[in-house]
Amino acid sequence: MASQEIEALSQSLARLPGLGPRSARRAVLWLVKNRDHALPALLEALDAVSETLVECTICGNVDTSDPCGICADHRRDPRSLCVVEDVADVWALDRARLFQGRYHVLGGKLSALDGIGPEDLNIASLLDRVADGAVDEVVLAMNATLEGQTTAHYLAERLEEHKVRITQLAHGLPVGGELDYLDEGTLAQALRARRPV
Ligand SMILES: [Zn+2]
Repeated sequence: MASQEIEALSQSLARLPGLGPRSARRAVLWLVKNRDHALPALLEALDAVSETLVECTICGNVDTSDPCGICADHRRDPRSLCVVEDVADVWALDRARLFQGRYHVLGGKLSALDGIGPEDLNIASLLDRVADGAVDEVVLAMNATLEGQTTAHYLAERLEEHKVRITQLAHGLPVGGELDYLDEGTLAQALRARRPV
């Protein structure tokens, strides 16, 4: 039977995405065992983040400064804008270091089921950024889900009146993927997006 304090910590950790009660208990056990070197660093990191975390007023990214590090980086091309659903997508794309432009975070996706309409997302601010004439290309990097694609279609329509090139991430075969293991949707997308060799 764990003490009340340890139980409370387990319950807080269990609320984190990707961690259930079982993983949370294992994490707590690890922290208890490694408290001398792991706990002070963790406390310091949590403290620093809770003190300084802000949402970028330009792109919606989360960082320790506003504008965020990406918007403030003059080496990045301000004329190329990549639109994503969530902050996690910015981080994922940026980890790959392939995109040299800037981002715009919608803060979700259109969903009739959940009652999320255009006014609930950062769409007005996206249209403002594009209407300024400072953007040449908008890359729609929505998830390959029905709602993600609905959102991409909606944005493409709204952006049509502006003089920007609108592109979309290609969907297709994952690297290392075998045809036999793919679902029909992925196969169909890959076939539609075929190109000359
Ligand atoms: Zn930003």
